[in-house]
Amino acid sequence: KRIAGHIQDSLVSRQVTRLSTKRPPVRRHYDVLVVGAGFAGAVMAERMASGSGKTVLVIDKRDHIGGNAYDHRDEAGIMVHKYGPHIFHTNSGDILDYLSRFTGWIPYEHRVLAEVDGQQVPMPINRTTLNMLYGLDLKTDEEAAEYLASVALDVGEIKNSRDTVVSQVGEDLYAKFFEGYTRKQWGVDPSQLDKSVAARVPARTNLDDRYFTDKYQCMPEKGYTAMFRNLLDHPSIDVITGQGYEDLPMDISWDHVVWSGPIDEYFHHRLGKLPYRSLRFEHETLDCEQAQAVAVVNYPDFETPYTRITEYKHLTGQTAAKTSVTREYPADEGDPYYPIPNPAAQDMYRQYAALAGKCENVTFVGRLATYRYYNMDQIVGQALATWRRLDARWRLESLA
Ligand code: FAD
Ligand code: UDP
Repeated sequence: KRIAGHIQDSLVSRQVTRLSTKRPPVRRHYDVLVVGAGFAGAVMAERMASGSGKTVLVIDKRDHIGGNAYDHRDEAGIMVHKYGPHIFHTNSGDILDYLSRFTGWIPYEHRVLAEVDGQQVPMPINRTTLNMLYGLDLKTDEEAAEYLASVALDVGEIKNSRDTVVSQVGEDLYAKFFEGYTRKQWGVDPSQLDKSVAARVPARTNLDDRYFTDKYQCMPEKGYTAMFRNLLDHPSIDVITGQGYEDLPMDISWDHVVWSGPIDEYFHHRLGKLPYRSLRFEHETLDCEQAQAVAVVNYPDFETPYTRITEYKHLTGQTAAKTSVTREYPADEGDPYYPIPNPAAQDMYRQYAALAGKCENVTFVGRLATYRYYNMDQIVGQALATWRRLDARWRLESLA
């Protein structure tokens, strides 16, 4: 617990995001401090306030809520995602139902094309991709499966992301779609990456050209930030943006911390720095109504310095005379976006997790705090499960 300090009230109240006009003045003591206003932090805050009756202070060092899912209108009035395209997809009706308390939805099925050999072809690889690239005329799933079996390599046990791909589609498709993209995205060869990374985009033999096959695929009707505003709009939740944990005013105290920042940062990197892959986003507004055929075009060749271009109007359904796009340039330095799924990093994470397990009054949740390459729905599921455990513990403690 941190108490004391000399920061004036005025400083504290200036930084409070007033999500509701009914909001009470900022408190001196909170039951819970939530570090990070992304999915993990916002869901935990909502549950602890609404479900456990706690007072909650949420802080984020960025000047906005929403974490990496933050969206906003750019200067041309186009709704864009500041940290790259975020498409909601889940197989969990419970997670969809939970979020539906805070947003309506518009239906959206994500489609991606990859620019390969001068053509834009469906990605994940499907029957159309094979026919377009190789001038084939595969008419059925069986024919496509036979073709893939004829080019696939027998690698024995699947040990890494290279094995995942070549065992499904062989070396030529691996080189065209995965090798360069993965080297750019992760800064290492696919053979150095856990098999689960490339397994996110398995090849198909049918004509399904959707990027995801989940049961529910949709986008928040008014955007992610509007949904976060509703999640955090509770009389017992105060939110301060532009506020890091490190320089939090010392005269605020709390009983419990929910930490959704990087786990190694919480422990001052005492066991070493966990590796993260970062991205630089280049946003641009173009003077035309539509820039590309689908929301995302991937550039898997190694020479193109970016991995993909996103055009947001496809995602949001917005109509406008101009259009805005984002190019993603992978980088070693910058905000920590992707935990690295390789054995050395996982080993270091496990040591941090052991330290975390000894912190009774700190709960670690989210992509960075649990060092997991999770999608938004998985983080929501993780946060709901974490809250349920914490709530049960609090209930038991209150009986004791
Ligand atoms: P974050 O959103 O990263 O939130 C953590 C917050 O903590 C941040 O806002 C950070 O500023 C704050 N913080 C950290 N340290 C401190 C500190 N010391 N003090 C104060 N605040 C701090 N998922 C999908 O389901 N679909 C997609 O299409 C998709 N696309 C993605 C595209 C990209 C480019 C990336 C990087 C991720 C994508 N994801 C997608 C994953 C998705 O972004 C994450 O699952 C989700 O945002 C994780 O939420 P979180 O709350 O754990 O972390
Ligand atoms: N990938 C690839 N080529 C592509 C798309 C994906 O090699 O055209 C690999 C790459 O390693 C990537 C991983 O598959 O990191 C997972 O792709 P996904 O689209 O899920 O990545 P994310 O949206 O999480 O960045």
